[in-house]
Amino acid sequence: MGALCGSAPPVATPLRRNAAARREAARGGREALLQNARMNRLLRRAAVLLLLTGGCPAFAQSPAPESEALAARFPEPVVSYHTPAFEPGHDGVTSNAELRTLVHAIAADAANTSAVKLVQVGSSQTGVPLEALHFSRPAAGAAHPVVLLIGQQHGDEPAGSEALLVIAQELAHGGLAGLLDRIDVVILPRANPDGAAASKRGTASGIDVNRDHLLLRTPEAQAQAQLVRDFKPVVVVDAHEFAALARYVEKFGAAQRFDALIQYAMVANLPPLVTRASEEWFRQPLLQALKAQGLSSEWYYTSSSDPADKKVSMGGVQADTGRNVNGLRNAISFLIETRGADLGRAHLLRRVHTHVSAITSILKSAAARADDLQKLRRFVDAEVAAQACRGDMVVEAAATPSEYALAMLDPQTGADKTVHVAWDSALALTPLLKRARPCGYWLDADQTDAVLRLRALGVQVQRVDEAGELRGEAYTETAREFGARTDARGSIADGGGVLRVKVALAPALIDAVAGSYYVGLDQPLANLVVAALEPDTQNSFVTSRIVDSVSAGARVLKRPELKMSAMP
Ligand SMILES: [Zn+2]
Repeated sequence: MGALCGSAPPVATPLRRNAAARREAARGGREALLQNARMNRLLRRAAVLLLLTGGCPAFAQSPAPESEALAARFPEPVVSYHTPAFEPGHDGVTSNAELRTLVHAIAADAANTSAVKLVQVGSSQTGVPLEALHFSRPAAGAAHPVVLLIGQQHGDEPAGSEALLVIAQELAHGGLAGLLDRIDVVILPRANPDGAAASKRGTASGIDVNRDHLLLRTPEAQAQAQLVRDFKPVVVVDAHEFAALARYVEKFGAAQRFDALIQYAMVANLPPLVTRASEEWFRQPLLQALKAQGLSSEWYYTSSSDPADKKVSMGGVQADTGRNVNGLRNAISFLIETRGADLGRAHLLRRVHTHVSAITSILKSAAARADDLQKLRRFVDAEVAAQACRGDMVVEAAATPSEYALAMLDPQTGADKTVHVAWDSALALTPLLKRARPCGYWLDADQTDAVLRLRALGVQVQRVDEAGELRGEAYTETAREFGARTDARGSIADGGGVLRVKVALAPALIDAVAGSYYVGLDQPLANLVVAALEPDTQNSFVTSRIVDSVSAGARVLKRPELKMSAMP
């Protein structure tokens, strides 16, 4: 099948059959589709179609059918983009090889009006280089704040990647280049090239890279962590796509209405000023920018893969996604999703245009607020570090149940349709478990894997040089249960189970031997440390068995007076 990809399809027959199959599916509705005979007929037609068109691997699973009336609600915008996917005769999305050629050409083009550097951040699991572009003009005074743009963490969501290539072209050659007088921009256009090549959500191992940002088990997540460590972005944008039909037609008899679903970080212990700046400086202008383009938007939401579960959730509230983990790094952190993960190439121009419009708005807001963003970051970093040893912190929080009137569309007629849903709101989180905020955590000398990961996240770790005692609290395991990590969509694709523990705390004098470790909370990434090292949460290092026992770590409640040295 792969060898046929890109070959010119015979035109008349397959196109007619395609339209006929779409009309049939649209007329039939769900009940009719469940009748075996008819289903088989449709599947046979789809197979003939794939054969005749030399089905490109990118769309080997035929896209979900949209009725013509529904599709008509999403007309093509009057714009033209010039990524490989939009070249005349190209019937797929930009391939990994095409993307690499374009990224290298932008980096090497001496005619660029901006200084551009290629940044290598390792390789995917099958060896595809992960390459970013760093756009930077020398600053007269202090360095510019950095905006980091990440595309296509999920391989079957191509529009973000195409849009980031468009943004790179605009930064290199005109349109957006002026912004570089105020900000630097780092672009990783395709964060999961293996998934992209297979048109699969996950990475080659099956692990979902966008649930791996605290645990860093995949080279793809490690690459993003390296970019954040090296460039310390004040703003991060993560570009995705959502399914237009799929489980929403099944659960609500309705199709997705919005061009874009947008959310910033919503996770326990997020500094409130980060939320406020995300809302006022970024989301409000972003909503206006989309509206001006005739594009609709809503908060991000999702629903589980269980057909019986009709709850809709405002995304995850755990420290696992890029959105939330980068928020806990005190960055303004946005998720932007466009409509069409299950639509193959349909509406691709509109999906890409939606991302380009949204990301352009964020870049313009960042440039306009460059000085404020630097000040905010310095303030929040210091404020988070100053909380060590003081007050309470939230160990586990959940979204707050409420209701919502969700604007959707009739999948056959395309008419507006309001669906009243049970809605897990992430705008206000409900704390489930609080503890006193410690000064830091102690880790035993054999916990080198945990230390490596913390340092990969950008966390400062100290090694105990001379043995001594630390005053704090020890954990004892009181219950354990093996299971799967879950999120609002259901089980997380994880490549293995997790161990959930319950713990009791008791005051203790901790014997800190030479070679053991201290991770202080008097640092800007303190809230990321809490997410990793309090053992009884679903994303902790204990739950994922990176730390092998709750007794391998402890809470330190008085500042250590030991001889320690910072790890390089
Ligand atoms: Zn996604």
